[in-house]
Amino acid sequence: MTSVSALKIVIVGHVDHGKSTLVGRLLHETGALPEGKVESLREVCDKRGMPFEWAFVMDALQAERDQGITIDTAQILFKTERRPYVIIDAPGHKEFLKNMVTGAASADAAVLVIDAIEGVQEQSRRHGYLLHLLGLRQLAVVVNKMDAVDFSEGRFQEVSAEISAYLAEIGVTPTEIIPAAARHGDNVSHRSANMPWYEGPTVIEALDGFAPVTEATSLPLRFPVQDVFKFDHRRIIAGRIESGNLKVGDRLLFSPSGKTARIASIEGWHVQPVAVTAVAGQSIGVTLDEQVFIERGQIASLLDNPPLGSYLFRARLFWLGRAPLSAGRRYKMKLGTAEYSVVVEKVERVIDVTDLASVDTDFVEKNAVAEVMLRSRGPVAFDEFVDNPKTGRFVLVDNFDIVGGGVISMKGLPDHRCK
Ligand code: GDP
Repeated sequence: MTSVSALKIVIVGHVDHGKSTLVGRLLHETGALPEGKVESLREVCDKRGMPFEWAFVMDALQAERDQGITIDTAQILFKTERRPYVIIDAPGHKEFLKNMVTGAASADAAVLVIDAIEGVQEQSRRHGYLLHLLGLRQLAVVVNKMDAVDFSEGRFQEVSAEISAYLAEIGVTPTEIIPAAARHGDNVSHRSANMPWYEGPTVIEALDGFAPVTEATSLPLRFPVQDVFKFDHRRIIAGRIESGNLKVGDRLLFSPSGKTARIASIEGWHVQPVAVTAVAGQSIGVTLDEQVFIERGQIASLLDNPPLGSYLFRARLFWLGRAPLSAGRRYKMKLGTAEYSVVVEKVERVIDVTDLASVDTDFVEKNAVAEVMLRSRGPVAFDEFVDNPKTGRFVLVDNFDIVGGGVISMKGLPDHRCK
């Protein structure tokens, strides 16, 4: 039997729309919770005379994690017949936006939860926009709390139309829009008898319908150098292959320095002797056929398909900094394993994510999205995000704090390949 790798999902949506409740339900209905967990929580609630909430399941797991009782920390796992899932970044987590923006939490698919009574709210839009900005293409929408609107098909259609219109404007088509009542389990794993008018999938079926995410093996080679180790006379260039593949004998180009050399050997950490080829997703080391000076931060590619190189680039970014971003300010930019000093050349557009209108301001406030031009002191090697999400995104750092994350789009600028 081949093992199926876990799909990483993120659950987003406005506060109180039912994200934790949905997660609690998903864990319960797929048998992922420790035996007796729900019963003991119900007892505690009874004793205290308070109603049981599925969100307590999440809180309880979090508390255990904080005390170091469960071993696997940041991740919540459950399994369907199709495959395992990891829910990354528990809802309500205060670092959620930062993790998303920095790629610390890189999800393969997302579920957007919307309250049927309240409909689409500010955070529904903001999270939807963020997913789109970060290139997440698989999104299912759950219209939750259908019990609170008497399981009304008309209300479901209204909310569906509202969110579909917003998502269409940013170029996202949800895979499914599911009416559900997470608290009661309607259409989570069991088809709801309360909504006979709905013929689509349950939440679990929608998750199982997401495409598995493959490593970026078919894209051009991008191998950012993490470290260079010296062993005796040998130098081992170590890193993770972010996309493409390489083999012994390939001539590598290191950008932006422009140095080239052939791969003499591929070294793994655990296996000897090592393979003659390596692919995206693998962390490896290579040795070269000649001594060239290579440093951390360089991106290795093949000669015929190098990354772009420029001092000036345009980016769409999500701003997290407490102090607003504005023209003239300088930040440290981290792209792949490289660090560059960049200055904001121009704030071209600030976007109000709630209605997608341009805002007339030169300052980018916390949680806003903007298009900016950045200029670096030295040449930067990168790709456009649409061509390669791994080398097309970056974060900005100010005084050791991550203050923003962005994706590069060079439209309207001359694009120079590194050589
Ligand atoms: P979160 O902030 O998005 O994680 O929201 P929670 O999961 O904490 O839920 C917020 C409130 O909505 C809680 O009181 C839940 O019991 C309630 N809620 C969640 N799902 C449903 C549902 O399907 N129907 C109803 N009526 N209430 C729900």
